[in-house]
Amino acid sequence: MPQYSPPLRDMRFLMHELLDVTGEFKRMPAHAETGADTIDAVLEEAGKFAASVVFPLNQVGDREGCRLDPASHAVTTPTGFKAAYAQYVAGGWPGLSCDPAHGGQGLPHVVNQCAYEMLFSACQSWAMYPTLSHAAYAALYYHGTPEQKALYLARLTSGDWTGTMCLTEAQCGTDLGLLRTVAEPQPDGTYRLRGEKIFISAGEHDLTENIVHLVLARLPGAPSGTRGVSLFVVPKFLVKADGSLGARNGIYCGALEHKMGIRGNSTCQLVLDGAIGSLVGEPNKGLNAMFVMMNAARLGVGSQSLGLTEVAYQNAAAYAKDRLQMRALSGPKAKDKPADPIIVHPDVRKMLLTARAYAEGGRALATWAALQLDRQVSGASAAEREEATDLAALVTPITKAFLTDNGWTATTLCQQVFGGHGYITEWGMEQYVRDARINTIYEGTNTVQSLDLLGRKVLGDGGAKLRRFGKMVSELVAAEAGNEAMKEFIAPLGELGEKVTKLTMEVGMKAMSNPEEVGAAAVDYLRVLGHLFFAYFFARMAKLALARQSSGDPFYRAKLITARFYFAKLLPETASLIRSARAGVAPLMEMPAELF
Ligand SMILES: Cc1cc2nc3c(=O)[nH]c(=O)nc-3n(C[C@H](O)[C@H](O)[C@H](O)COP(=O)(O)OP(=O)(O)OC[C@H]3O[C@@H](n4cnc5c(N)ncnc54)[C@H](O)[C@@H]3O)c2cc1C
Repeated sequence: MPQYSPPLRDMRFLMHELLDVTGEFKRMPAHAETGADTIDAVLEEAGKFAASVVFPLNQVGDREGCRLDPASHAVTTPTGFKAAYAQYVAGGWPGLSCDPAHGGQGLPHVVNQCAYEMLFSACQSWAMYPTLSHAAYAALYYHGTPEQKALYLARLTSGDWTGTMCLTEAQCGTDLGLLRTVAEPQPDGTYRLRGEKIFISAGEHDLTENIVHLVLARLPGAPSGTRGVSLFVVPKFLVKADGSLGARNGIYCGALEHKMGIRGNSTCQLVLDGAIGSLVGEPNKGLNAMFVMMNAARLGVGSQSLGLTEVAYQNAAAYAKDRLQMRALSGPKAKDKPADPIIVHPDVRKMLLTARAYAEGGRALATWAALQLDRQVSGASAAEREEATDLAALVTPITKAFLTDNGWTATTLCQQVFGGHGYITEWGMEQYVRDARINTIYEGTNTVQSLDLLGRKVLGDGGAKLRRFGKMVSELVAAEAGNEAMKEFIAPLGELGEKVTKLTMEVGMKAMSNPEEVGAAAVDYLRVLGHLFFAYFFARMAKLALARQSSGDPFYRAKLITARFYFAKLLPETASLIRSARAGVAPLMEMPAELF
């Protein structure tokens, strides 16, 4: 049976020691009163909830999956999902970072981010129901009309209702311009939607009495492509002006997708058969409104893989200390036993440390990214909000793609630590691998994230957003220049920063004569930038650990060792990535399609 212990110590380290979030909050009028005690108490409770209520659902959810009654179109979630959700709602968890004006607790995003990570470690397929609602809340919060806000926000905040995002259709995934669902205006100002969506997460279920679908569709005569896409809110049950439920709307689950992982989450084909909806935001500007949701969801998907990396690591580490196989190459270590525990073997350690470094680096990155969201919304000055907006835009595709690629690697390595037992269902490791796989695919594949990063976020603004982060790197490098103890971290960080500048300029120049160069370099480029962020945070974490190791707290010793491992064994990957990125487009485009 797998186990899970919430990584509260590391979260406290990041929030209070590395990022000084309460110092940041003091400068934000909305969060000035949020102190360290509140944050720690909330996270401790969130951790208890994740470990004791949600974690036991993980294997059950995978085994049972969801069931559809074709006659009523009702979907039943796995045993225990509904009761856990009711407990989640009763505890007030859905509204943790929602606006108090709509019944939320108004806590910073960064606290919510840590709570979500623990839920994803506990059971990703369950945690997707409430976290998707949060994305729907964000779209309506920023783009809804006053009537839509009044009808939906309080119920999404309380968790009485959940939300979905309905973009994908059979012919349209990455390319939303191919979307065919239509929305006909009605005399009363509403719209009737007709079409079919596929792959809709949490699209139908028995957790709540209503579901708030946010649906992309086309108005009659809308321009072709993405410039003709509008966003609609389409509830499962129509909502009367007084907030009570009306008739069943014409949106229902036609089938459940059979899938590799996250089986406890209902992935639905949704039929819109004259469903009544109302327009969110401006006509034909649906993607603007949907992007609020997608950005929130992209950071959320990064956290999903962070959660899986952490729980897979914890289980693999425990197993490696227990499982006896072979002797250490340097001679027996557990002489009283018939063999040594496999943790003595260098490569088992490499697998464990890789997962650990991906978890700790990923948590630093995701926590910092969430803090940028708080600064973006609640920062004290316009300049601070603008800086945070740029940094959040830059780091969103990196958090999504780097953490999910790392999550796939880490869960696979942790499965490998278990040998054949990792392949056997009861140990739970093969489920982590299967669950982690989707995170690299949905919310825009990782290729699409890398194109967004290099094409739009970096080259699209002449490198301005990247320079903001580059400045943070240079300042750290300059500040530590004379610190001998930090040299092993600062020298490679500074070197990588310079290489990133050169690579960016080189790809930018090549892209001017051939835009395909961006597509050829983007995936390697994102990974290099992911490492630059990790190197920056590991260097800062190492600095703290060096300063505090004399306290005797083993946490700092472990942090320092993990940072050293990261710089010695993982960062060097950037050399081959840069080489591959520089090799350009020719090796990819030479092969004629008919020879594939
Ligand atoms: C379990 C699950 C849950 C999902 N949940 C939701 C949901 O809740 N709501 C929703 O709307 N959708 C959801 N999706 C859909 C998901 O977001 C899409 O599958 C994903 O965006 C990719 O679209 P696609 O499957 O059509 O692949 P395609 O767009 O056909 O892409 C196929 C391949 O081509 C590549 N490719 C495409 N265009 C380019 C390009 N320009 N340059 C380089 N490579 C390119 C892609 O990266 C990919 O490797 C879900 C999917 C699954 C499997």
